Amino acid sequence: MKTTPTPTANQTLDPTNWDEARQLMHQMIDDAVDYLSTIRERPIWQPMPEEVQASFEEPVPREASSAEEVYSEFQENVLPYPMGNVHPKFWAWYMGSGTLSGALGDFWASIMNPNLGGGNHAANKVEAQVVNWMKEIMNFPTSSSGLLVSGGSMANFVGLTVARNVKAGYDIRTQGFQPNHKMVVYDSAEVHSCNQKALELLGMGTESLVKIPVNPDYTISIAALQQQIRQDRAAGLHPICVIGTSGTVNTGAIDDLNALADLCEAENLWFHIDGAIGAIAMLSDTVRPQLSGIERADSLAIDLHKWLHMPFEAACVLVKNSTGHKKTFSLIPEYLAKNTRGIAAGDLWFSEYGLQLSRRFRALKIWMSLKEHGTERFGDMITKNVNQAHYLAELIDQSSDMEQLAPIGLDILCFRYNPGDLTLTELNAINKEIKIQLEESGKSAPGYTTLAGRYCIRVAIANHRSRREDFEELLDDIRQIGVTLRGSIPVLSS
Ligand SMILES: *Cc1c(COP(=O)(O)O)cnc(C)c1O
Repeated sequence: MKTTPTPTANQTLDPTNWDEARQLMHQMIDDAVDYLSTIRERPIWQPMPEEVQASFEEPVPREASSAEEVYSEFQENVLPYPMGNVHPKFWAWYMGSGTLSGALGDFWASIMNPNLGGGNHAANKVEAQVVNWMKEIMNFPTSSSGLLVSGGSMANFVGLTVARNVKAGYDIRTQGFQPNHKMVVYDSAEVHSCNQKALELLGMGTESLVKIPVNPDYTISIAALQQQIRQDRAAGLHPICVIGTSGTVNTGAIDDLNALADLCEAENLWFHIDGAIGAIAMLSDTVRPQLSGIERADSLAIDLHKWLHMPFEAACVLVKNSTGHKKTFSLIPEYLAKNTRGIAAGDLWFSEYGLQLSRRFRALKIWMSLKEHGTERFGDMITKNVNQAHYLAELIDQSSDMEQLAPIGLDILCFRYNPGDLTLTELNAINKEIKIQLEESGKSAPGYTTLAGRYCIRVAIANHRSRREDFEELLDDIRQIGVTLRGSIPVLSS
């Protein structure tokens, strides 16, 4: 007769000694506080030595190690080599810098570890409340639906899926695409690539996304859009949606949202806004007027791990047509049926509003951070960043060897080092090298983009830790590297 082997009978994955576990957890908390409170003193980024790189190629650990050993390996091989985005002088891409209460919220979310697919429990209420707060901030009606998702990409994906299904004009979930019924969506050439990805994944093909030219200020040309819609209708296509942006990734340009809303109303099109960058700036008294019309979107993607500084990942999508939203994603087989009482009760199941069934408790970090700081404080942080962008522009204006290359949009500034006597090729090469040397020195991390063939140093200040003097130092560092590099120009441009 076979019996279960005794050594494993009562084994779990919990600590065998809770006192030791407590001690280690306290140590981690102490280390985390030290880490964050001294962030300014360390380099933003540093390359990983070979032996550290090699550690990531070790095979799967079959034997146990002590939690202390694992933690010390983390401290040695992971912690010293960050991406850098929590540092006060990180202004690359467009990222937030995190909050302590956000991190603690994530910690407790994992300890509680509920599944936000649905059910009758407090975590579900927390998410519903956070979504309601987003409606309140964006001036969306309370009857709208929404959910928290991983990021702007997924928020746009959800919004565009509802747009497609509602505007198809037939039951696309059942029937799929129809022959001779080509749906088209419009956005500007400056709108983020994740929207194209979404339409590709929705089976509509890249050709279904018509890119409209932008004005000199990088906002969508309304006249060109109007013209294109007319032309496409005449050609027998089915325009369904316009994607506006409340902050482009290159220059922070905000489309004329009211004009787009008017046009969508007149043309009976779905109005989606990619608000990954600008939407949360509704919290800033100075930026809010520029976002007028955002409340008129049919669906809105809001990133929360960018300018709201939530630890990755966090975003929200809001949809006015809550019925259409639910109809797009709801699918309830017997094994997911709800009850009227107990754990499986409750009307609002978030899995009926998105692709994911199992979902993490990402609402807690947002709930804790918003309650701790209040939205006015977050708004002030946004205003501060916008002011810093203008301060940097002033400094650039006063420098004969620096040149601004696009109007400031929100908190994004594009410029280059330009001592005046270099060719375009040389300028592109020298600015590219300056940016990399800044990173390698660990001093600062601006981003980059290319506008009309000109390589730009792009500073996107979504950073609540940055100070005015950081930007003075940035220009000093750029100038210093630039002057040194000028001696080796022939090498650079060859
Ligand atoms: C970052 C960004 C996205 C994508 O959002 P993720 O959170 O990175 O998925 C979409 N649109 C704009 C304008 C962005 O800046």
